[in-house]
Amino acid sequence: MRAAIFHENGGPEVVRIEEVARPEPQAGEILVEVAAASLNHLDLWVRRGLPIETTMPHIGGSDVAGVVTELGAEVQGVAVGDRVVLDPSISCGRCEWCRAGEAPLCREYRILGEHTQGGFAEFVVAPARSAFTLPDDVPFEQAAAAPLVFGTAWRALIGQARLRAGETVLVTGASGGVASAAVQIARLAGATVYAVTSTPHVQRVRELGADVVLNRDEVDFSREIWQRTGKRGVDVVVDSVGEATFARALRCLARAGRMVVYGATTGPKGELDLRQLFWKQIRLIGSTMASEGQFRTVMQLVFDGRLAPVVDVVWPLDRASEAHARLEAGEVFGNIVLTP
Ligand code: ZN
Repeated sequence: MRAAIFHENGGPEVVRIEEVARPEPQAGEILVEVAAASLNHLDLWVRRGLPIETTMPHIGGSDVAGVVTELGAEVQGVAVGDRVVLDPSISCGRCEWCRAGEAPLCREYRILGEHTQGGFAEFVVAPARSAFTLPDDVPFEQAAAAPLVFGTAWRALIGQARLRAGETVLVTGASGGVASAAVQIARLAGATVYAVTSTPHVQRVRELGADVVLNRDEVDFSREIWQRTGKRGVDVVVDSVGEATFARALRCLARAGRMVVYGATTGPKGELDLRQLFWKQIRLIGSTMASEGQFRTVMQLVFDGRLAPVVDVVWPLDRASEAHARLEAGEVFGNIVLTP
């Protein structure tokens, strides 16, 4: 089968199209003929290497939609010919966290396409329980643009930060995949949404449903939030920008506010004034990926048309290397979808 594969870590140029052996499903696994797979920032981290180590040679791609073509032994509840979208989370199913339904905390937690061979190929193998049936009226390209970003945003805002209707939310880096999903989810939850982005993306972020879009090229978003909320601040900040804006993002919180962090794009260190933490009684919360229940809940909302995956472009798999370069250059709004 054809696959976008790399044999060493490096820039977009290490990703090449090659002919490789078709994988075979083991017990409890399914073989899926990929119809569409989308590119996430995670794929860039995996390609670059450190701090992420993966198998070599490696096929990336965590977000996959396609058709089941073969079943391994002991597979139930999935049939050949099913249209499916895959849950990118892979967990042991046995540890205390799995038993509590919290797969992202699993001791053996892995992500499809990061720790295993992913969907930038004609076929991919995945655990049978990762398959979620895709309704006939949902295009593969739409479904493939959703799992990682909507799952992550749902867990961060609804699961971890426990966002409620009537609250105020600040979403930083709002043109990012998870962040743009967070804007939609916060809006759906009945919150007032403030979003920070840069000049090229202001209009698109507004169209996603943000109530107030702050252009970081023009204003200090922290000061702006303070003024616009009458020196109150917001109830929830959802952030993955990290080092560059952490201290300012934290200052945007109201008393008893919650800061939920799901990434650290600009660097891993954040400055925290402990006096702010205890005096304002702030809660700092980490979040990554989604549980099986959260994945299914948010995907159902996508299937129902209440959340809309943002597709940047749909390109043939042959352009995988170019897609890496495009995402890396920050020219993307939404997910790039590749089709074999
Ligand atoms: Zn587990």
